[in-house]
Amino acid sequence: MSLNNGKKEIVIMGGGLAGLSAGFNLVRARRPVSVFESDSCVGGLSRTIQHGAFKFDLGGHRFFTRNEETDRFVKDVLRGDYLTVHRKSKIYLRKKFFDYPLKPANALFGLGVSTTVRAVSDYGKEKIRNVFSAPQNISLEDWVVSNFGRTLFTIYFKEYSEKVWGIDCKSISEEWVSKRIEGLSLGVALKNALFKYSGRKVPTLVDRFIYPPLGIGQISDRLKEEIEKENTVKTNTRVSKISHKDSVITGITAKNCAETYDVRGSEFVSSIPLTRLVTMFDPLPPQDILEAASKLRYRDLVIVTLMLNREKVTDLTWLYLPEKGMPLGRIHEPKNWSPHMAPEGKTSIVAEYFCFRDDNIWNAPDNELTSLTARQLADLGLIGMEDVSDSCILRVPKAYPVFEVGYNEHYSRISEYLDRFKNLHIAGRTGKFKYYNIDHAIESGREAANNIIRKTALSRK
Ligand SMILES: Cc1cc2nc3c(=O)[nH]c(=O)nc-3n(C[C@H](O)[C@H](O)[C@H](O)COP(=O)(O)OP(=O)(O)OC[C@H]3O[C@@H](n4cnc5c(N)ncnc54)[C@H](O)[C@@H]3O)c2cc1C
Repeated sequence: MSLNNGKKEIVIMGGGLAGLSAGFNLVRARRPVSVFESDSCVGGLSRTIQHGAFKFDLGGHRFFTRNEETDRFVKDVLRGDYLTVHRKSKIYLRKKFFDYPLKPANALFGLGVSTTVRAVSDYGKEKIRNVFSAPQNISLEDWVVSNFGRTLFTIYFKEYSEKVWGIDCKSISEEWVSKRIEGLSLGVALKNALFKYSGRKVPTLVDRFIYPPLGIGQISDRLKEEIEKENTVKTNTRVSKISHKDSVITGITAKNCAETYDVRGSEFVSSIPLTRLVTMFDPLPPQDILEAASKLRYRDLVIVTLMLNREKVTDLTWLYLPEKGMPLGRIHEPKNWSPHMAPEGKTSIVAEYFCFRDDNIWNAPDNELTSLTARQLADLGLIGMEDVSDSCILRVPKAYPVFEVGYNEHYSRISEYLDRFKNLHIAGRTGKFKYYNIDHAIESGREAANNIIRKTALSRK
C-alpha cells in the first residue's frame, strides 16, 4: 500500500522527540511528511504512561536547556502550559541520605573525619599531579579520579556508574562523563554549595526545571497533534526495510498488523536505533559495517511502578541508589513533579533497574519485580508492604547508548558509511548513538528538518 498516492514525500522513521520535532518543523515549512512509529504511542523514551488514574514517565524526565531557542520552542509547543519544579534529589549511601548533586559540605563531612581528610588529600594530590603532567583520560575512572580524587570516585561514582552501564568503570569511555559533568569540578561544586556561586550553570547543577502538568509525554502529544493537522503519524507501524540505489535512499517498507506500506520518498529522517538502521538496508551494507554495528551496545531498562495507598512518600525529585547490594538504581515520585500524576490521597513510586536484555532482571516475572521493588523500598523505610495497591512493569529496550572504551572506532565507521547517503538525515539519541537529553534530541530533529528545508528550497527554485 502506498501513502500520499505514491507522491514522493519526506519520511520520518521514529516518533520520539527527535522524529516529531523534525516533522513539526517540516510541516511548518509546508513540506509533506509521514512519520512511522513502531510503538502504540509517540514519545519514545519521553512518553508518559497512563495506568488507571496514575501517570508516570519512563524514569522522571525534566526539561532543561541552555539553548534559548529550544527553550522557547518547547514552551510554545506546550502553549505555555507547564509547571516550574524545584529540583531536590538525594543519594543513599552507607545508610545515609546525601544531597545530590553532591554538595561538598554535605558529601565530605557526612563521610566522617578520616574519610574526609583522605578525600581532600586525594583531591589535592590529583590537582598537583595535573599541574606537572596533563592527565591521559581514557576511561570514566581516569576522568573522575583526575577531577575529584580516588576516594570520592570510589564512594560516589564507581558503584552507580557500574550499575547504570553494567561494565567496569575502566571500560566506560571518559567521553560520557566528561561531557555530562562538563565544567564541573570539585572546586565549582564547592563554590556552588558554599557561596551560591552565580557563574555559568552546568546542567548537572541546575535546581529548577519545567515540566508539563500531565507528564513529559505532553510535548510529543502536542507535536503529533500539529503534524496530524495535514500529515500522517502512523503508530504501531514498524519500519522493516530501507531501499537504496547508487547512494540514494529510494524508499522504506513499514508494517503493522493490518498493512504493509511501501513508501517512496525524497528525503528520509531516521531517529531509530543506529545499530538497527544499517541492518534494514536493502542491499545490506558491507560486512565490516554490520560488524561495527554489532559491537555497539545499548543498555536496557526495566521500570517498575508501584501504586500506593499513601498521600506522599518523599519530597524528592529523584533518589539515587548506587549501592551494589540493592538492585534498584533510582526512584522518583511523579506526584512531586506534578500533582496531576496520581489521584487524590494516593501516590506512586517509579523504580528504574538498569540492565541488559539477557539479565535476570529483564527476564524476571512481573510479580517478582513488584515484590522485589516493594521490599527494597520498605527496607529503606519509605513504604510499608501493605501500602502497595497495584503495579505496572515496563521493559524499555535501548534506553542508553553504552560508550565502551574504543566504541568510537565502530561508530565512526558506521557514520562514514551513512554519510554517503545525502538524502538520509540521522537524528536523536538512539539514532545518533549519543547521550542526548530532551533538548539535544529536539535540536537534532529540528536541524535535520532545517537541512531538508534548505535543500528542497534550492531544488524548488
Ligand atoms: C530513564 C531515562 C531518563 C531520562 N531522563 C531525562 C531527563 O530527565 N531529562 C532529559 O532531558 N532527558 C532525559 N532522558 C533522555 C530522553 O529520554 C531522550 O533524550 C529523548 O527522549 C530521545 O528522543 P529520541 O527521539 O532521540 O529517541 P527515542 O525516544 O528513542 O525515539 C526513537 C523512536 O523510534 C521508534 N522506533 C524504533 N525502531 C523503529 C522502527 N523500526 N520503526 C519505527 N519506529 C521505530 C521508537 O519506538 C521510539 O519511539 C532520559 C532517558 C532515560 C532512558
